Amino acid sequence: MKHHLRLVAVLCAALAMIVTGCGDEEESGGPDVEVEEDPEFASGSVMAELAEAGTIRIGTKYDQPGLGNINLETDEPEGFDVEIGKIVAGELGIEPDQIEWVETVSANRESFIANDRVDIVIATYTINDERKEQVDFAGPYYVAGQDLLVAEDDESINGPDDLAGKRVCAASGSTPIENIRENYPEAEPVEFDTYTECVDQLEAGQIDAVSTDDIILAGYAADPKYEGKFRVVGETFSEEPYGIGLEKGQDDFRDFLNDTLEEAFEDGSWEEAFEATLGASGVEAPEPPELDRY
Ligand code: GLU
Repeated sequence: MKHHLRLVAVLCAALAMIVTGCGDEEESGGPDVEVEEDPEFASGSVMAELAEAGTIRIGTKYDQPGLGNINLETDEPEGFDVEIGKIVAGELGIEPDQIEWVETVSANRESFIANDRVDIVIATYTINDERKEQVDFAGPYYVAGQDLLVAEDDESINGPDDLAGKRVCAASGSTPIENIRENYPEAEPVEFDTYTECVDQLEAGQIDAVSTDDIILAGYAADPKYEGKFRVVGETFSEEPYGIGLEKGQDDFRDFLNDTLEEAFEDGSWEEAFEATLGASGVEAPEPPELDRY
């Protein structure tokens, strides 16, 4: 998983640019997304219903720089996940400004889908078998890896094997908190609803590490607000394939979402979305992952 290490270094630079506003495209809200004119779908399908409604409710994170992060001036989220949402909406003939964004945190993603609070979730959402019992997934559209964020001057933690007796924070309902509990029983897990709360605790010296996906941690490490305070360890210890969550059993909709991702991988719009957000410093996007059409 060495590429994750390189990725983190690169992302720190990229995200520093995003949060300081150096990325032109990000400043203007990302690349132009193609919006289909009057797309045709089988009548009665989820796609036909959404296209007819002219809007789609998308759950995303609001506190994850580069992925899904609320812009306090526009009150709209922005980032790679948000761009993926715009690509999906565009395929349904829905303009970006007609999307209804809904903030989701790690623990409420399944219930927001099951209780019809959102149509889809695009929120650093790892595809796994346990979650597949409650929701379905299209994707993956990106593969991250679990990592650790520690205080800049803390040399005692250099990987997951250094966590014995350490207070490690992750979001409730996330794969990282489960991984810590199950596989690193000597660590002391601490949970909050959001990673921002974990990061604030780390800054205050109340915990020793925040653990979640490398790409998320890189965003916090690069935030000017935390300049010089944290370091991403850079030793990933899981695979986190990000999927688009949807209601279980909507097979035609899942096929449509997978087809949309595949097209975006092929026509360059996925790469453009990456470059405008996570790759804003001019770093090349990785190869798109292999879709898992289960
Ligand atoms: N990707 C992991 C998950 O879905 C960690 C990030 C998050 O909590 O959103 O649980």
